[in-house]
Amino acid sequence: MTFPEELSCRELVELVTDYLEDALSPAERVRFEEHLRACPGCETYLEQMRRTIDVLGRVTEESLEPAARDQLLDLFRNWKRGDRAN
Ligand SMILES: [Zn+2]
Repeated sequence: MTFPEELSCRELVELVTDYLEDALSPAERVRFEEHLRACPGCETYLEQMRRTIDVLGRVTEESLEPAARDQLLDLFRNWKRGDRAN
């Protein structure tokens, strides 16, 4: 159940900082939010990022706990295997 314009989880993870910094285009933002509605894993990821920003003031790749990020990316790989070739 994927659509051509649907964001993959990996893309969402890559866009999350732009989303939180309000740097996405309107079209990207819509796709981002549509993915969130359908994907509890990414919703959780976004919440983690929000909390990180609350604590640190801003977010970087490095500020996310590596173990947590790897775990999420493993989940994504299992869910979306073959979803989209890189
Ligand atoms: Zn997702």
